Amino acid sequence: MSIANNLQHFLDKLPSHVDLVAVSKTKPLEDLQEAYDAGQRIFGENKIQEMAGKWEALPKDIQWHMIGHVQTNKVKYMIPFVSLIHSVDRIKLLKEIEKQAKAHDRIVDVLLQVKIAREETKYGMPLQEATALLSGDELQNFPHVRVVGLMGMASFTDEPEQVAAEFAMLEGLYERFRESKNLNTLSMGMSGDYKIAIAHGSTMIRVGSAIFGARNY
Ligand SMILES: *Cc1c(COP(=O)(O)O)cnc(C)c1O
Repeated sequence: MSIANNLQHFLDKLPSHVDLVAVSKTKPLEDLQEAYDAGQRIFGENKIQEMAGKWEALPKDIQWHMIGHVQTNKVKYMIPFVSLIHSVDRIKLLKEIEKQAKAHDRIVDVLLQVKIAREETKYGMPLQEATALLSGDELQNFPHVRVVGLMGMASFTDEPEQVAAEFAMLEGLYERFRESKNLNTLSMGMSGDYKIAIAHGSTMIRVGSAIFGARNY
């Protein structure tokens, strides 16, 4: 199967309210160009330098999404062009995005990454911390940052009930604050679990290997 075929497969069957982020981390420019030529415009990367290099080389109507862990000292390299940061998991990072966005005279859309997986290794803020942040007025301190939704990664397991329970937890948090905080994006679901994620209200899936093939790190 070609990249274009794989993409078409998703575009044909995705509900219209679900956006597809093509996760192109580690993949060469030719692969991204092939997806672009097939109509894909949203690409997700997990390393800032790699994303910046691809942004420079590829058409300027691509929307670049940062989906990986962000080091505070590298935020400045993506602020000129990033369209959505999925992985905001701490206040210190919000502060740095605010500072850099202000310096570039723009407002940057972000998602709060919430830890929903059982595993200890996954990034994300604890559910309680995300709840507190959305309940209070602290986000008003960041006028150049717009929190437009939530992101989460489920446990890597072959138990669909576990994955479903984790996605349901994030869906609950999203629904609780959707109206009052003007949220419009619930980013959950990858190649292996996007169907469960969509069944639990995902509005944005992040799909890498099912489009581009397996990655060799
Ligand atoms: C790599 C990655 C994906 C895509 O994973 P696949 O299993 O290849 O679809 C999605 N989200 C995040 C945060 C990732 O790092």
